[in-house]
Amino acid sequence: MKILIIEDDSEIVEAVSLCFQLRWSGATVISATQGAKGLDLVETETPDLVVLDIGLPDMDGFKVLREIRQFSQVPVIMLTVRGEDTDVAKGLELGADDYITKPFSHIELLARVQAVLRRAQGVSVTGDERPFVSGKLSVDFASRTVKINGQPIKLTFTEYRLLYYLIKNEGRLLTHENLLNKVWGEGYTEARDLLRVHIQHLRQKLGDSAESPKIIVTEHGMGYKFVRP
Ligand code: CA
Repeated sequence: MKILIIEDDSEIVEAVSLCFQLRWSGATVISATQGAKGLDLVETETPDLVVLDIGLPDMDGFKVLREIRQFSQVPVIMLTVRGEDTDVAKGLELGADDYITKPFSHIELLARVQAVLRRAQGVSVTGDERPFVSGKLSVDFASRTVKINGQPIKLTFTEYRLLYYLIKNEGRLLTHENLLNKVWGEGYTEARDLLRVHIQHLRQKLGDSAESPKIIVTEHGMGYKFVRP
């Protein structure tokens, strides 16, 4: 496993590296103190996970994230500062998979990382899973390809996993708690904002209307339901 940390605070880089190496002895940790260098490394080193700070000397973490998402769906955990909720919202908006607030304990960090990696790898694919095709939407589970009107669309791991779980429970109301628990993991059942933002992105990418969604339907105060397009 290869982890990339993009952060200019050397103490945090060291703490995070140590934490990964203690937990995964085979893990390779690489780091960049500047956003531009970090971007290079995402491209050349193809890490399995990126830990990205918002405050960087050359460009802010949001810009880095936006650029990463132009070419890579690698799971990204943003490092944010306590009390800066708009940063969190913005990071998720731009395609971060999760965030962690500084200062954090190594236990907190590992829990987040494990949850994110589980989401990235955890969608079970058995050979006999037939593609889902309905209306303009088609999903090939074997290759994880999602198409709208025959055009492939790019989903982050989390969005894919969310869509997968919704499709597999087609027509059923899934509560917020249920979705958060299944897609994000234990410890996330209260994170409704996280769910809301990801549903919003997924709808956008599926071309589902935000005002009157037809594919991912909101059941007010309860949860969401996938309806065949
Ligand atoms: Ca920093």
